[in-house]
Amino acid sequence: MSVLSPGSTIGILGGGQLGRMLAVAAAQLGYRCHIYAPPGDNVACDVAAQFTVADYDDLAALKIFAQACDVVTFEFENVSVTPLKSITDFVPVYPPLKALEVAQDRAAEKDFVRSLGGKTAAFAVAQDESALPAAIESVGIPCILKTIRMGYDGKGQSRIMAQEDIAGAWTRTGAQPLIAEALVPFDAEFSVILVRSQDGDIRFWDSSRNLHIDGILSTSNLPAGILVESQQPAARDMAASVAAALDYVGVFTAEFFASAQGPLFNEIAPRVHNSGHWTIEGATTSQFENHIRAICGLPLGSTETVAERVEMENLIGHDADRFMQILADPAAHLHLYGKAEARAGRKIGHVTRLYRS
Ligand code: AMP
Repeated sequence: MSVLSPGSTIGILGGGQLGRMLAVAAAQLGYRCHIYAPPGDNVACDVAAQFTVADYDDLAALKIFAQACDVVTFEFENVSVTPLKSITDFVPVYPPLKALEVAQDRAAEKDFVRSLGGKTAAFAVAQDESALPAAIESVGIPCILKTIRMGYDGKGQSRIMAQEDIAGAWTRTGAQPLIAEALVPFDAEFSVILVRSQDGDIRFWDSSRNLHIDGILSTSNLPAGILVESQQPAARDMAASVAAALDYVGVFTAEFFASAQGPLFNEIAPRVHNSGHWTIEGATTSQFENHIRAICGLPLGSTETVAERVEMENLIGHDADRFMQILADPAAHLHLYGKAEARAGRKIGHVTRLYRS
């Protein structure tokens, strides 16, 4: 295991709130961060020592960036993998690019998980519009169409609830290769968030119960309830075997539906995750700090939950306008991401409330 001394520079691909919270955790441990992101509202740059604004496939800019960093990580999984391969000659990149490749392709991701014994909802690939009716027929109605690439927060998705919804569905979903996935009658959603060190040590945070509204995470709650708690061990085993098969280093998230057939795998995120934001105040070591520890070769910190009850609420669009009211609550820890515009559906911040008996 190679230890990167405090004072070294961590490169982060992606300039959003996850990069911002990673950079804050890195600063606490004495590291400097260099953010690399295309033009946009790069809120991570506000808290970083250096930043490069360039496209993810700009080979020359990536090379200069890599040469200025001691390790590189990412906070955004839709970074092109091929240009990134070229920087692995200059600098270690964690998590491994194989994890990015798998996570970027919904069909490959589910096949990978199934090859390791995991269960997923029934799905079928439609590479073009003519293949769509057969794909829908094979999984049945109701189902969800999801683009194979570049989908997040419910984007690139549409529901087929009745035969009439099929007309125009290809165009509505973005006119690109997609999967049709059976709609799961789940009782709860949860994620397994783990951290894996360079020598394969794995730690898990408690799984929160996650509520999504319109495809976007709304709240995460702990304790997660008996159903999630009973499915957590099998889901952990699954997530750990996926992480091990990828030779993973850093924080890894696997999202599950708690269904009558046990945990059904939904998707992986090869990065810190929104459903783990509660760990900043609610666990001994946050997902952000443990990610930094893992990629820098430091010992992992305890992932123990420190409160009896934890609730994380995402602040979306204009939700953060009530920041004065939130701050008046002694249980509340407010995080605002510094975004320029509070558009509908955009994550502007979050609040974590801790309750101790
Ligand atoms: P995803 O982008 O796949 O995480 O989907 C976003 C959200 O849509 C999930 O967290 C669920 O709330 C819902 N969803 C996605 N796939 C399914 C499914 N097969 N059955 C029921 N709900 C789903």
